[in-house]
Amino acid sequence: MTPLIQATNLARIYQVRRGLFAQPKPVRAVDGVSLAVMPGETLGIVGESGSGKSTLGRMLLGIDQLQAGEVRFEGRAMPELRTAEWRALRAKMQLVYQDPLAALDRRLTIASQLAEPLEIHRIIPKDQRPARVAELMVAVGLRQDQAGRFPHELSGGQRQRAVIARALASRPKLLVCDEPVSALDVSIQAQVVNMLRQLQEQNGIAMVFISHDLKVVRNIADRVAVMYLGRIVEEASSDVIFRSPRHPYTQALVSSVPVPGKLLEGRVILQGEPPNPANRPAGCAFHPRCSIARDICRSTAPVLRQIENRRTAACHIVADGAVPVAA
Ligand code: SF4
Ligand code: MG
Repeated sequence: MTPLIQATNLARIYQVRRGLFAQPKPVRAVDGVSLAVMPGETLGIVGESGSGKSTLGRMLLGIDQLQAGEVRFEGRAMPELRTAEWRALRAKMQLVYQDPLAALDRRLTIASQLAEPLEIHRIIPKDQRPARVAELMVAVGLRQDQAGRFPHELSGGQRQRAVIARALASRPKLLVCDEPVSALDVSIQAQVVNMLRQLQEQNGIAMVFISHDLKVVRNIADRVAVMYLGRIVEEASSDVIFRSPRHPYTQALVSSVPVPGKLLEGRVILQGEPPNPANRPAGCAFHPRCSIARDICRSTAPVLRQIENRRTAACHIVADGAVPVAA
């Protein structure tokens, strides 16, 4: 089966100048990331802020330019940015991000915002648009009397529902959701995540679900990729990642999620500073925070290896004897 979207060796490097006369320094936001998402599947991408998750999400959609590597959608290489071909493809892949107020036009009613993509992508005849708008509102649990409201007249949760409805208007095959519920109250988060999961199942949509919140990812992802300073350090099915994390960073992340009724015993506490892409440690970038680091970790970066059937990890200790994954 061909993956819906496949990324190979993606890299994005920013030149950052600290101070007026300082030499610009390369910052590797995304550094050699490969991934594939099958139709209808949800890939969770987790990691602390600064790990490159959002940049990776935008690169998948072609919003952030690739400096190296390749993205294929339905087996075809992504067309040149902003060409007619690219726009047609973008209708099939939509982005939902954290701040619904920024994503919506505050001068337009909810109904007009939902009609807009139908018009832009010329998806259905004009006379059928109102019915489709009504259908989209029902799908995300908005009431019909909210159609004439403006974004500021809705709650945060309702606004995010409107953003999701608009993303669904073009019948996408892929949603890239970047922290889609992080700005919402905890009580609303579960509702929106459940709704996303339902919509995805009903419509066979694949999802890349980016979040720093493992509890949320656990609820929605089939597979999870863990990122640290621009690289994937472990990837496996969601069950496997949460049940038996192997990479020391994944272990620390997973053990920081409270499990009701479970004691804190055996928890791995994440030490030291959170990752700073402008100051990447040599060797394994995680070594200053790793409790089992050895000499080799300080000098040599581990490569991603297949350590078990359907599990990869980038760690010298965990992957001892494992075969490197071909890019
Ligand atoms: Fe820790 Fe070394 Fe593995 Fe990096 S390579 S995670 S420093 S043990
Ligand atoms: Mg982010």
